[in-house]
Amino acid sequence: MSKIIVWFRNDLRLHDNELLQKCIDKNAEILPIFCFDTKQFQNTFLDFPKTDSFRTRFLIESVQNLKENLQKIGANLMICVGDPAVIIPELAIKHQAKSVFVSAEVTKEEITLENTIEQKLAQNKIEMERFWQSTLYHIQDLPYPIKNLPDIFTQFRKGVESLVKIRKTISTPTKLKLIAHIHDWGKLPSEQDLCIKIKESDEKKAIHFEGGETAGKKHLQQYLWENNHIVHYKETRNELLGDSYSSKLSAWLALGCLSPRYIYEEVKKYETEKIKNDSTYWLIFELIWRDYFRMVAKKYGNKIFQLEGIKSKEKLQWIENKALFEQWKNGNTGIPFIDANMRELNQTGFMSNRGRQNVASFLTKDLKINWTWGAMYLESLLIDYDVCSNWGNWTYIAGVGNDPREDRYFNILTQAKRYDEKGKYIKYWLPELENVNEKAIHLLKLDRNQQKEFKVNIGVDYPNPMINPEKWTK
Ligand SMILES: Cc1cc2nc3c(=O)[nH]c(=O)nc-3n(C[C@H](O)[C@H](O)[C@H](O)COP(=O)(O)OP(=O)(O)OC[C@H]3O[C@@H](n4cnc5c(N)ncnc54)[C@H](O)[C@@H]3O)c2cc1C
Repeated sequence: MSKIIVWFRNDLRLHDNELLQKCIDKNAEILPIFCFDTKQFQNTFLDFPKTDSFRTRFLIESVQNLKENLQKIGANLMICVGDPAVIIPELAIKHQAKSVFVSAEVTKEEITLENTIEQKLAQNKIEMERFWQSTLYHIQDLPYPIKNLPDIFTQFRKGVESLVKIRKTISTPTKLKLIAHIHDWGKLPSEQDLCIKIKESDEKKAIHFEGGETAGKKHLQQYLWENNHIVHYKETRNELLGDSYSSKLSAWLALGCLSPRYIYEEVKKYETEKIKNDSTYWLIFELIWRDYFRMVAKKYGNKIFQLEGIKSKEKLQWIENKALFEQWKNGNTGIPFIDANMRELNQTGFMSNRGRQNVASFLTKDLKINWTWGAMYLESLLIDYDVCSNWGNWTYIAGVGNDPREDRYFNILTQAKRYDEKGKYIKYWLPELENVNEKAIHLLKLDRNQQKEFKVNIGVDYPNPMINPEKWTK
């Protein structure tokens, strides 16, 4: 009987998992493994960890839940901490595996790691097999080779919607055979193992993100079937406050606790059994954006991480000023709409899509700071960090990605007034401004008497603006 190592990475689920189905088809004995790669938690050159507290907690919970779900069907999960490039080949050799199965990734670090492992395995006549798992549309079903992927999202979307059928989800296994006589299954890492201090997220958070397939499915069930929030999604998705303006599915999607095809099938069922409208479609539309950024990363490789981006334009002049960057990062720019969003991120690990667009635009178009610094900071903090979605969106907003509009610019004042008309969101995250009236909250040009009236001392309780916001009024 053949023995297979199932190396889990961003596919932490039993449902719609081709790796597991293939093991069953082959009647193989398996060893499922998750390896916490300690490099992922080290400090970047900008002095913050590559993976910070919120996502670390979510990841640990997701791995724990995967282990429990595997145990329920007679299997288990080996948990390792260290360098997968060493650990995976060692275990494959020790257990005389025939193959290592893994979900395919598309970006440099992940592929380099896969390739290193593949080479070591090959020296021992062990194969590595990669499976495409993370998107709604399967890459093999695209009507063109990836090098011909359209550079405009709408062209991609219309093409796949009219020509490609989304594959059915793969059924959840009910029994898996383990390789016999394994005694040490490892254990979850401590804070010391990862050199990360795990903080609790602020009570004011939009929702409590609990890691794992079980919590992800429950969240989808509530969002869709119990609370019917999807019915208003298209109208509410640009809002900023609360648990229901958008689906909040991103963190579970990022680690593969939920498969996008599973979400798609649930939405289709909802449309048949309850309501079909523009909003139900729009959630799928957004999942196609997610697919698109993954395909773009596949097409352009390392370019999505480079300063000149996928357009390879001649270098724009980017500023590398750590003091200014710190002000942005800490939510101390003196621009309330930006600071409120950054404080939400810093205190919870989440930020709305509208918020992300604005903070990214402010950093890159107003402060003109090296956009890759901003992308690195969101990578560190976001609970839903996804390499392709994060870096793809940053290139787009920084003007080095595949935005067909060359000169896209977010006027922060207009955005703030449109999406937070009464300043409720700002006051929620910046309580020092809670007495400022709605007319003054966005621009904060307060004279001494107003500061007294609104009980805020600008420059002491809340910083002076780091750029002159009058530019947005012209
Ligand atoms: C600068 C910047 C950085 C971002 N970084 C990430 C990231 O690291 N991880 C991430 O998942 N999303 C990222 N996004 C996209 C988007 O902001 C989030 O997916 C969304 O806010 C998550 O909340 P939600 O699940 O409630 O989204 P919903 O509005 O409910 O959307 C449903 C799903 O569609 C997908 N989606 C929606 N918008 C986008 C988009 N613009 N790009 C790609 N997928 C999208 C997500 O999977 C999301 O969960 C980023 C956007 C910007 C502007």
